[in-house]
Amino acid sequence: MNHIPVKQLLADPDIYIGSEVDVKGWVRTRRGNKNVAFIALNDGSSIKNIQIVVDFAKIPEDSLKDVTTGASLHVKGMAVASQGKGQAIEVQADEIEVYGTASVADYPLQKKGHSLEFLREIANLRPRTNTFGAVLRIRHTLAYAIHKFFNDRGFYYFHTPLITASDAEGAGAQFQVTTLPLEDLPRTEDGKVDYDQDFFGKMACLTVSGQLEGELGATALGCIYTFGPTFRAENSNTPRHLSEFWMIEPEMAFYEIEDNMDLAEEFVKYCISYALEHNREDIEFLAEHFDKDLIDRLNFVVENDFVRLPYTEGIKILEESGKKFEFPVYWGVDLASEHERYLVEQHFKKPVILTDYPKEIKAFYMKLNDDGKTVRAMDVLFPKIGEIIGGSQREENYDKLKGRMQELGLQGMDWYLDTRKYGTVPHSGFGLGFERLILFVTGMQNIRDVIPFPRYPNNCEF
Ligand code: ATP
Ligand code: MN
Repeated sequence: MNHIPVKQLLADPDIYIGSEVDVKGWVRTRRGNKNVAFIALNDGSSIKNIQIVVDFAKIPEDSLKDVTTGASLHVKGMAVASQGKGQAIEVQADEIEVYGTASVADYPLQKKGHSLEFLREIANLRPRTNTFGAVLRIRHTLAYAIHKFFNDRGFYYFHTPLITASDAEGAGAQFQVTTLPLEDLPRTEDGKVDYDQDFFGKMACLTVSGQLEGELGATALGCIYTFGPTFRAENSNTPRHLSEFWMIEPEMAFYEIEDNMDLAEEFVKYCISYALEHNREDIEFLAEHFDKDLIDRLNFVVENDFVRLPYTEGIKILEESGKKFEFPVYWGVDLASEHERYLVEQHFKKPVILTDYPKEIKAFYMKLNDDGKTVRAMDVLFPKIGEIIGGSQREENYDKLKGRMQELGLQGMDWYLDTRKYGTVPHSGFGLGFERLILFVTGMQNIRDVIPFPRYPNNCEF
């Protein structure tokens, strides 16, 4: 590669000043006077641009008519110390080649300050904005930090299937995968759809969670994690739900619920610190433009212990708060986001790990406590987000788990029960919604703005 990434030029000006450089990128802005043009060139490597100075004595002004916002350029020139303030280095152009023009008449990203709603409609182009460049670089860094965190601790990256035929995951409504002709479905004698004739010979869906298969991995490899897309066909039009989102699901043999909480807390703190360290400029940009308290909030979470609180005590606090909630609070209720946020933002003013939920509102595989009423669940609740992690210690007792599955009418899962039938062990795990973590780290308000191409009800563009 003969060109130098903008990020590298800006990071080490002393290396480049005084030498010929090649830079390539897209024009962000162009300004100037009758003698010279200043082009802010961005190549996506950094939130910052490199300033290109064009002296019309060297390059005639009329040869620059295609150098407009959005056009792509190859610039050759001398790197010099910048006279202007705001940057240490700039490039005095000797040659400019325009790779591709962007017509002023219709390139949609002419000016700054487009609304996030508008940018969502042009998600094919929004990665070229400062805001989405920052968010997407942070997204990358967090993905890398996640792999690094687990790899450094001896966890194996375990790939669970995206297409599954187990309808008992229970975490949410599923999208069906089929090759049957929908306009002319094959039927059995009793009029039901004949799935024997479907691609897999049975009904199949996209996964809502890799956990059950993750448990198969953990009870063989010790500690594993998944990191992949999951799909939920719920009609949730909220700023915290997507139909296609990425989830990280560690699963650990020999971990009890306390170990699970320790890991979850260490893990999110690690990811946030990693982004603070490696995406400082992007986070500062987002803080300045969207959320003045962002950096304080991130530091606060990294520096403070999370509160650990049983569900029953959480309910008591909510009942005694005297606050009028939209959804009423009572023991047994599945907490809504407003309840979670009250505990976190008003009462404790800290992240909260809520534990020991009523078994009725949690999944069948969670370990029953001695009280017979609650299970060893743990949800990590964050300011502004609500639930960011859901996890539990798993029921490792074959008879108890089988009994619970029978109560709930879950069938055809002997493959799962085998983990308890043969060499069962205490084990635990959790699921972190990747986009919820990115929401928190970027300070963005809407989950549709932290994934390049969001999928949600009535939207499957790009
Ligand atoms: P919620 O109550 O917020 O809808 P949930 O309890 O249904 O979430 P889980 O099944 O526990 O979610 O999934 C584990 C994690 O995945 C959640 O803690 C959350 O971070 C994330 N998550 C769940 N549903 C979605 C979604 N539709 N879009 C994005 N992230 C999600
Ligand atoms: Mn949950």
